[in-house]
Amino acid sequence: MPAEFPDFRLGNVLATSFTGTLSERHGDAVERVPVPHRLVDWLAVSGLAVDSCTVAQLDRARELREAIHAAATAAALGDALPASAVDVINDHSARGRAAAVLTPGGERRWRLGPDSALEDALGVIAADAISILAGERDGRLALCASPTCRAAFFDTSQSRTRKWCDMNTCGNRQKKARFHANQRRSAGTAE
Ligand SMILES: [Zn+2]
Repeated sequence: MPAEFPDFRLGNVLATSFTGTLSERHGDAVERVPVPHRLVDWLAVSGLAVDSCTVAQLDRARELREAIHAAATAAALGDALPASAVDVINDHSARGRAAAVLTPGGERRWRLGPDSALEDALGVIAADAISILAGERDGRLALCASPTCRAAFFDTSQSRTRKWCDMNTCGNRQKKARFHANQRRSAGTAE
């Protein structure tokens, strides 16, 4: 029987979608890229298809992921960016040799090198993180309001008041919890 792996939670923003491959960091953490081929799968659905990934490359990808998470968390809290995280992000960005190419239909695609595809893909993710952390893009870094999650996400809502990393999971769970609490309360007053 093939092993089952947790689904991906894909966002619209590459860098925070990547940090979301480890979720519930303050609860029962869920590693969504537990093996190299799941990182290959995630990259494919994120527009960065690569042929292969080694265990060492997965380790490097996770190192980048945690650096982005640390930097994004600091930025969301208004703290100074951790120097070690900045170094890791810059290192990955500098190693990447991906080329942005324009399709005849007017879409941007990433062209990765044949021998360095994984590194190039990580370089694209690192550069995406840099553009968010540098405040170049329209939006605000924030942390999920769920106490067991606290994922960093990029809020592009008009009012900048988004509370959850993901409405279908964290947002929904919170709504249900509030509903049950209200029910308990009204049951209590009826007695
Ligand atoms: Zn969340």
